Amino acid sequence: MIFKEDANEAAVYLRQAVPKMIKHNIVPNPFNFTLWYSYYSKQFPELNNELDYIISRFETCPPEMSESLLLKYIIQKDEKQEQERDTFQKAIDVLVDNLSESIGQTAKQSNDFSSAISDNIVSLAGCELADDQSALLSELSENANALCRINDSFQGEMNAAQSEINSLKKQLAESRQQANTDALTGLSNRREFETIYHNFIEENQQQEISLIMIDIDKFKVFNDTHGHLMGDQVLKFVGQLLKSECQKPLVPVRFGGEEFALLCPRMDISKAVKIAEKLREKLSSIALSNKRTGEKLPPVTASFGVSMSKGAELLYHLVERADKALYMAKNNGRNCVQSLP
Ligand code: GH3
Ligand code: MG
Ligand code: MG
Repeated sequence: MIFKEDANEAAVYLRQAVPKMIKHNIVPNPFNFTLWYSYYSKQFPELNNELDYIISRFETCPPEMSESLLLKYIIQKDEKQEQERDTFQKAIDVLVDNLSESIGQTAKQSNDFSSAISDNIVSLAGCELADDQSALLSELSENANALCRINDSFQGEMNAAQSEINSLKKQLAESRQQANTDALTGLSNRREFETIYHNFIEENQQQEISLIMIDIDKFKVFNDTHGHLMGDQVLKFVGQLLKSECQKPLVPVRFGGEEFALLCPRMDISKAVKIAEKLREKLSSIALSNKRTGEKLPPVTASFGVSMSKGAELLYHLVERADKALYMAKNNGRNCVQSLP
């Protein structure tokens, strides 16, 4: 059981959580409530650190971040169950594959056997047989055919079951993909970003990994001038640019709102700064226009903050430094790159 508080303690947390949620414009749904209740119960100190950081950064906790924190700290158990389900599903796949193969073999052997019997029957038909022998012979032939039919139909059922399993597997992979992808830009979302980072540091304890935080400049003004829909098109465009410019092992991510991130595994900060500089230059030099009206749009620029982790550092520390560098870039006049190792 996660929550062990008695009614009095729970009431105290409730009285603290609700005003905090209202203050920061957080939708009071059961998920968010669980998150903020847990915050005041101080059960997961790391969760509190992350929430404090997010609130100081965004003034609110955007829904995708709430979801990712909920999954990370409170529903961890389910992740384990999901891994178990995966293992179980793989075992069933192997079983069905093996079964289907051995049934295929059995069916083939039975068919061979049945046609051998049929050949024998044809040869025997040329011989003179007593009536009861002929009757036995035709019964034998019928039984052999029936055996083949049963095998055929069983094999058909196995094939159908196998294709059903394949289609379920595909659906599962698609829904996982959706859960890890930002719908507007098609980039990985913050949740996937965290998973990739954690997998990386688990497998590469002492390897360098750099992070570039990217924030579009004066985007509020852009939205106010050209409309939110046009703003969405710009976000899509930036997403495409990051996708086309950033090859593996770089991982471009929509971090939230008009902020993007670029994970640079096995890359030191000076290389990451060069990548950021290249992206900055490219973005600012592209002439955008409204496809519908032909109206020319002002150049879209972004500020970049770069940081680097050498060991297995907590992700939010790395993000915090990249954010500080980003803040420096904003203060430095925007459309520039700053770094904090
Ligand atoms: P700065 O250069 O300091 O970053 O200024 P800014 O205006 O970009 O920053 P601010 O944080 O004041 O505003 C962010 C804007 O980004 C406001 C918000 O409407 C816009 N925005 C966030 N997410 C989206 C989105 O999904 N679509 C659109 N069109 N706009 C978004
Ligand atoms: Mg911003
Ligand atoms: Mg901005």
